[in-house]
Amino acid sequence: MKPFEATSLYFNRAADHIELAENLRKLLLTAKREVQVQVAIEMDDGEINTLIGYRVQHDNARGPMKGGLRYHPDVDLDEVRSLASLMTWKTAVVNIPFGGAKGGISVNPRKLSQKELQRVTRKFIDEIHDVIGPDTDIPAPDMGTNHEVMSWIRNQWEKYHGFHPAVVTGKPAEFYGAEGREEATGRGVGILAFKLLDRLGRKPKDTRVAIQGFGNVGSHAAKFLTEADFNIVAISDASGAFYREDGINIKQALRYALDHTMSLRGYKEADQITNAELLELDVEMLIPAAIGGVITSKNVDRIKAQVIIEAANGPIEPDADEKLYNRDITILPDILANAGGVTVSYFEWVQNLQYYKWGLNRVRQELDHVLSSAFEEVWQESHERDVSLRTAAYILAIRRVYRATHLAGM
Ligand code: NAD
Repeated sequence: MKPFEATSLYFNRAADHIELAENLRKLLLTAKREVQVQVAIEMDDGEINTLIGYRVQHDNARGPMKGGLRYHPDVDLDEVRSLASLMTWKTAVVNIPFGGAKGGISVNPRKLSQKELQRVTRKFIDEIHDVIGPDTDIPAPDMGTNHEVMSWIRNQWEKYHGFHPAVVTGKPAEFYGAEGREEATGRGVGILAFKLLDRLGRKPKDTRVAIQGFGNVGSHAAKFLTEADFNIVAISDASGAFYREDGINIKQALRYALDHTMSLRGYKEADQITNAELLELDVEMLIPAAIGGVITSKNVDRIKAQVIIEAANGPIEPDADEKLYNRDITILPDILANAGGVTVSYFEWVQNLQYYKWGLNRVRQELDHVLSSAFEEVWQESHERDVSLRTAAYILAIRRVYRATHLAGM
């Protein structure tokens, strides 16, 4: 199933519960604007490389549109469209005053030199600078991009429009970024995993965890969870997966990854398994934190975890989601589970607009507050209506976006 079809299906399941009319469904599902641009750059060897870049601006009823920029070979318009719509529901679930957008370039950033990566980023901004801005659409990091890329975006955009660091979030903390933005998504995953487990009456120390993906989100989630006494028995990245029955020393694995350009390739302190095997391990908690569509009708019957935290966007396809729900497996949906990143992005934007910097403690406290409130609301909605946490989260989000659209006079 294509990613946008999957997101729309989740949307429609929730829309059915609140009996949302067909014409309103179409209004809320259709993107406001979809931009596709040519990103042609000169490579270091003098060859011309032509890439395709996308920015989909889904909805701005609740505020400026907000969403990451992904550099990955699988990026296409359908995926970006799906991720942009997820951002609309995500910002609404955690009730921050943003809409949803997403961007991407179909490229493997690991195959580009730093100079090539910078040229790609600047060229992309040349093409889209007039449709993004602090009050319209604010990019942020996603898979394959980081604070350095965000700095280039800001610098290139400011060449056209003048000083305004709020045009992008996820900037380096020392240069108009927020303290704690880098860790925010993974930390949020950890905070919410902890809350959910507590609500389910389980203890961290009796919880074995497998995490797929050891990039920004996966590694920070691993760090938080290990400090909170969870037993992380498996980690992975694109190079493969690693399993150790007695638990992986996350501090050591992090050091290894940092020493190897954030790759676990060659990590010797655990047994090597495949990414597919990691998903099917006998663990209490599974955290997909890499790519989308990894749990499908093909492998769902072999999933053993009782709790799944969707740190990645769209890791579970709808058929599989339904089967897991029927098996009483608790899924914390992406639009809540990984909302820590956009929440701290919001704090960064606020700080930029106020020319005032918060300390790390304040960022962490406010993040905890926003995510805890959203978790309580989703949990309550799910119990009142006897629906999954995903459907409950979508119901809350759709209601808020619809209400804003309605209040604006539509
Ligand atoms: P990242 O690029 O920092 O890390 C991605 C990780 O996934 C890397 O370890 C990479 O090796 C691994 N990976 C890539 N392809 C894989 C594959 N086929 N199998 C197994 N592992 C693979 O990206 P990130 O920022 O950590 O994002 C991870 C997920 O979290 C994405 O789905 C992203 O949309 C989502 N997300 C990220 C943020 C954020 O703030 N960075 C916010 C919300 C959601």
